Amino acid sequence: MLNIVLFGPPGAGKGTQSENIIEKYQLVHISTGDLFRKHLGEGTELGKLAQGFMDQGKLVPDEVVIGMVEDKIQENLDVPGFIFDGFPRTVNQADALDKMLAKHDLSISGMVALEVPEDELRARIKERAKTSGRVDDQDDDKITTRIKVYQDETAPVAGYYKAQSKFNSINGVGSISEIFDQIAGVVDVLPV
Ligand code: AMP
Repeated sequence: MLNIVLFGPPGAGKGTQSENIIEKYQLVHISTGDLFRKHLGEGTELGKLAQGFMDQGKLVPDEVVIGMVEDKIQENLDVPGFIFDGFPRTVNQADALDKMLAKHDLSISGMVALEVPEDELRARIKERAKTSGRVDDQDDDKITTRIKVYQDETAPVAGYYKAQSKFNSINGVGSISEIFDQIAGVVDVLPV
Protein backbone atom coordinates (compact mmCIF):
# COMPACT_ATOMS: atom_id res chain seq x y z
CA MET A 1 0.00 0.00 0.00
CA LEU A 2 1.01 3.57 -0.70
CA ASN A 3 0.26 5.51 2.49
CA ILE A 4 0.97 9.24 2.44
CA VAL A 5 0.79 11.87 5.17
CA LEU A 6 0.03 15.22 3.55
CA PHE A 7 1.28 17.80 6.02
CA GLY A 8 1.23 21.56 6.37
CA PRO A 9 -0.29 24.49 8.25
CA PRO A 10 -3.92 25.62 7.81
CA GLY A 11 -4.30 27.15 4.35
CA ALA A 12 -1.29 25.32 2.87
CA GLY A 13 -3.41 23.68 0.16
CA LYS A 14 -3.71 20.17 1.62
CA GLY A 15 -7.35 19.75 0.57
CA THR A 16 -6.73 20.94 -2.99
CA GLN A 17 -3.64 18.79 -3.50
CA SER A 18 -5.32 15.77 -1.88
CA GLU A 19 -7.87 15.79 -4.69
CA ASN A 20 -5.09 15.63 -7.30
CA ILE A 21 -3.18 12.92 -5.43
CA ILE A 22 -6.32 10.77 -5.00
CA GLU A 23 -7.10 11.02 -8.68
CA LYS A 24 -3.60 10.03 -9.79
CA TYR A 25 -2.85 7.30 -7.22
CA GLN A 26 -6.39 6.01 -6.41
CA LEU A 27 -5.94 6.49 -2.67
CA VAL A 28 -8.63 6.66 0.02
CA HIS A 29 -8.81 10.15 1.53
CA ILE A 30 -8.80 10.36 5.31
CA SER A 31 -9.27 14.05 6.15
CA THR A 32 -10.00 14.36 9.87
CA GLY A 33 -11.27 17.94 9.38
CA ASP A 34 -13.74 16.75 6.70
CA LEU A 35 -14.81 13.80 8.88
CA PHE A 36 -15.48 16.11 11.83
CA ARG A 37 -17.43 18.55 9.61
CA LYS A 38 -19.54 15.61 8.37
CA HIS A 39 -20.31 14.56 11.96
CA LEU A 40 -21.14 18.18 12.79
CA GLY A 41 -23.51 18.43 9.83
CA GLU A 42 -25.23 15.20 10.84
CA GLY A 43 -25.48 16.32 14.49
CA THR A 44 -23.82 13.18 15.89
CA GLU A 45 -22.45 12.97 19.45
CA LEU A 46 -18.92 13.00 18.02
CA GLY A 47 -19.78 16.14 16.04
CA LYS A 48 -21.15 17.86 19.14
CA LEU A 49 -18.01 16.92 21.09
CA ALA A 50 -15.71 18.25 18.34
CA GLN A 51 -17.59 21.46 17.61
CA GLY A 52 -16.38 23.55 20.57
CA PHE A 53 -12.73 22.75 19.81
CA MET A 54 -13.13 23.35 16.08
CA ASP A 55 -14.98 26.65 16.44
CA GLN A 56 -12.13 27.97 18.60
CA GLY A 57 -9.43 26.66 16.26
CA LYS A 58 -8.12 24.24 18.91
CA LEU A 59 -7.33 20.55 18.50
CA VAL A 60 -9.94 17.91 19.24
CA PRO A 61 -8.52 15.53 21.93
CA ASP A 62 -6.19 12.85 20.56
CA GLU A 63 -8.23 9.84 21.70
CA VAL A 64 -11.31 11.08 19.81
CA VAL A 65 -9.37 11.68 16.57
CA ILE A 66 -7.40 8.44 16.81
CA GLY A 67 -10.57 6.35 17.31
CA MET A 68 -12.23 7.97 14.32
CA VAL A 69 -9.20 7.30 12.06
CA GLU A 70 -8.89 3.71 13.25
CA ASP A 71 -12.54 3.05 12.28
CA LYS A 72 -11.92 4.51 8.82
CA ILE A 73 -8.81 2.34 8.25
CA GLN A 74 -10.65 -0.81 9.38
CA GLU A 75 -13.43 -0.11 6.86
CA ASN A 76 -10.97 0.25 3.95
CA LEU A 77 -8.28 -2.41 4.22
CA ASP A 78 -8.73 -3.53 0.63
CA VAL A 79 -7.54 -0.34 -1.11
CA PRO A 80 -4.35 0.79 -2.93
CA GLY A 81 -3.52 3.10 -0.03
CA PHE A 82 -4.47 6.05 2.12
CA ILE A 83 -3.78 9.76 2.08
CA PHE A 84 -3.92 11.25 5.56
CA ASP A 85 -4.84 14.93 5.40
CA GLY A 86 -4.84 16.99 8.60
CA PHE A 87 -3.76 13.91 10.57
CA PRO A 88 -1.53 13.26 12.48
CA ARG A 89 -1.49 16.69 14.15
CA THR A 90 0.39 15.71 17.32
CA VAL A 91 3.36 13.40 17.91
CA ASN A 92 1.03 11.21 19.99
CA GLN A 93 -1.31 10.86 16.97
CA ALA A 94 1.69 10.00 14.72
CA ASP A 95 2.75 7.27 17.12
CA ALA A 96 -0.82 5.92 17.32
CA LEU A 97 -1.05 5.90 13.51
CA ASP A 98 2.14 3.84 13.19
CA LYS A 99 0.78 1.37 15.75
CA MET A 100 -2.64 1.00 14.11
CA LEU A 101 -1.06 0.48 10.67
CA ALA A 102 1.42 -2.04 12.08
CA LYS A 103 -1.52 -4.17 13.31
CA HIS A 104 -2.32 -4.73 9.62
CA ASP A 105 1.34 -5.05 8.54
CA LEU A 106 1.18 -1.58 7.01
CA SER A 107 3.27 1.57 7.40
CA ILE A 108 3.52 5.17 6.23
CA SER A 109 5.40 5.36 2.91
CA GLY A 110 6.28 9.04 3.31
CA MET A 111 5.27 12.49 4.50
CA VAL A 112 4.80 15.30 1.97
CA ALA A 113 5.02 18.68 3.72
CA LEU A 114 3.72 21.81 1.99
CA GLU A 115 5.76 24.87 3.04
CA VAL A 116 3.93 28.21 2.81
CA PRO A 117 4.85 31.51 4.56
CA GLU A 118 2.46 32.82 7.23
CA ASP A 119 1.31 35.96 5.37
CA GLU A 120 0.34 33.82 2.38
CA LEU A 121 -1.54 31.36 4.67
CA ARG A 122 -3.57 34.21 6.18
CA ALA A 123 -4.40 35.63 2.73
CA ARG A 124 -5.54 32.21 1.47
CA ILE A 125 -7.72 31.47 4.52
CA LYS A 126 -9.40 34.89 4.21
CA GLU A 127 -10.11 34.22 0.55
CA ARG A 128 -11.48 30.75 1.39
CA ALA A 129 -13.68 32.27 4.14
CA LYS A 130 -15.79 33.96 1.44
CA THR A 131 -17.13 30.58 0.29
CA SER A 132 -16.15 27.87 2.84
CA GLY A 133 -18.85 28.63 5.40
CA ARG A 134 -16.29 27.55 8.04
CA VAL A 135 -16.62 29.35 11.37
CA ASP A 136 -12.89 28.83 11.97
CA ASP A 137 -11.97 30.68 8.73
CA GLN A 138 -13.93 33.77 9.68
CA ASP A 139 -11.85 36.03 11.91
CA ASP A 140 -8.22 36.98 12.49
CA ASP A 141 -8.17 35.76 16.10
CA LYS A 142 -9.27 32.24 15.12
CA ILE A 143 -6.77 32.12 12.28
CA THR A 144 -4.02 33.25 14.69
CA THR A 145 -5.01 30.50 17.16
CA ARG A 146 -4.92 27.86 14.42
CA ILE A 147 -1.47 28.95 13.23
CA LYS A 148 -0.16 29.01 16.83
CA VAL A 149 -1.61 25.55 17.54
CA TYR A 150 0.09 24.34 14.36
CA GLN A 151 3.46 25.79 15.44
CA ASP A 152 3.25 24.52 19.02
CA GLU A 153 1.60 21.11 18.67
CA THR A 154 1.71 20.04 15.02
CA ALA A 155 5.08 21.24 13.64
CA PRO A 156 6.96 18.69 15.85
CA VAL A 157 5.25 15.90 13.86
CA ALA A 158 7.65 16.75 10.97
CA GLY A 159 10.54 15.76 13.26
CA TYR A 160 8.84 12.43 13.98
CA TYR A 161 8.92 11.55 10.26
CA LYS A 162 12.40 13.07 9.74
CA ALA A 163 13.66 10.60 12.36
CA GLN A 164 12.23 7.80 10.19
CA SER A 165 13.76 9.35 6.99
CA LYS A 166 10.22 9.79 5.60
CA PHE A 167 10.06 13.60 5.47
CA ASN A 168 9.80 15.38 2.11
CA SER A 169 9.48 19.16 1.85
CA ILE A 170 7.62 20.82 -1.05
CA ASN A 171 7.40 24.54 -1.86
CA GLY A 172 3.66 25.18 -1.47
CA VAL A 173 3.69 28.55 -3.25
CA GLY A 174 2.98 28.54 -6.99
CA SER A 175 0.27 27.28 -9.30
CA ILE A 176 -1.75 24.21 -8.26
CA SER A 177 -0.29 22.20 -11.13
CA GLU A 178 3.31 23.28 -10.45
CA ILE A 179 2.97 22.23 -6.83
CA PHE A 180 1.31 18.96 -7.81
CA ASP A 181 4.17 18.17 -10.23
CA GLN A 182 6.62 18.48 -7.33
CA ILE A 183 4.41 16.27 -5.13
CA ALA A 184 4.15 13.62 -7.84
CA GLY A 185 7.96 13.72 -8.21
CA VAL A 186 8.24 12.72 -4.55
CA VAL A 187 5.33 10.24 -4.44
CA ASP A 188 6.46 8.40 -7.58
CA VAL A 189 9.65 7.25 -5.83
CA LEU A 190 8.19 6.38 -2.43
CA PRO A 191 8.50 2.74 -1.38
CA VAL A 192 5.13 0.99 -1.71
P1 AMP B 1 -8.89 21.09 9.06
O1 AMP B 1 -10.06 20.99 8.12
O2 AMP B 1 -7.87 20.02 8.84
O3 AMP B 1 -8.28 22.48 9.07
O4 AMP B 1 -9.46 20.84 10.54
C1 AMP B 1 -10.44 21.69 11.11
C2 AMP B 1 -10.46 21.51 12.62
O5 AMP B 1 -10.82 20.16 12.95
C3 AMP B 1 -9.14 21.75 13.34
O6 AMP B 1 -8.90 23.12 13.60
C4 AMP B 1 -9.36 20.94 14.63
O7 AMP B 1 -10.24 21.62 15.52
C5 AMP B 1 -10.11 19.72 14.10
N1 AMP B 1 -9.15 18.67 13.67
C6 AMP B 1 -8.97 18.20 12.40
N2 AMP B 1 -8.03 17.26 12.39
C7 AMP B 1 -7.59 17.12 13.66
C8 AMP B 1 -6.58 16.31 14.28
N3 AMP B 1 -5.85 15.45 13.57
N4 AMP B 1 -6.41 16.45 15.63
C9 AMP B 1 -7.15 17.31 16.36
N5 AMP B 1 -8.09 18.11 15.84
C10 AMP B 1 -8.32 18.03 14.50
